[in-house]
Amino acid sequence: MPSHSTSRVTTQQGRSGSHAAPPLVLTSSVLNEAAKFFEERGAFGLEGTAMIKAGDVLELVVPRQLAHRDAHGHVNVEVPREGQMDLALALGPEEIFVARIHSHPGDAFHSSADDANPIISYEGGLSVVVPFFGLGLRHGLDACAVFLFHAGGWVELPAGPRRNRWVVAEPLS
Ligand SMILES: [Zn+2]
Repeated sequence: MPSHSTSRVTTQQGRSGSHAAPPLVLTSSVLNEAAKFFEERGAFGLEGTAMIKAGDVLELVVPRQLAHRDAHGHVNVEVPREGQMDLALALGPEEIFVARIHSHPGDAFHSSADDANPIISYEGGLSVVVPFFGLGLRHGLDACAVFLFHAGGWVELPAGPRRNRWVVAEPLS
């Protein structure tokens, strides 16, 4: 129903401009699925990346991706054209991407490449970085770095009340 989708998108984008809007609630099913994917990739010493889409429920979308690891253990992951196609095709008429989530081998932070990545770089977009190849999620969202795209750049939301205004997580089993 196209008329529905318009109001849904407006509501979701409105979240960025209004602090009165409720925070995004990352469901345990999405976070568990992300952790499972990241740990599978981590078993090969590789990072993983995914997107979280919002419709009737939240869903994790894992695009085709190219993960690299050099002889020094430096890693990165990129989403090639076919992966970008996966993301585009994953969205139904009433769905939008609300967050990106990717894993790091060690600490969770935004690298310069993460900052430069144009995916979901719009006001109110969220970026979650999971430390330790996904294992960090065993300690919940508080163990992750979370960034909010605001006023043209990524701003870190440290765990606590400021982050909770924007995004919270269901407890993981
Ligand atoms: Zn990164």
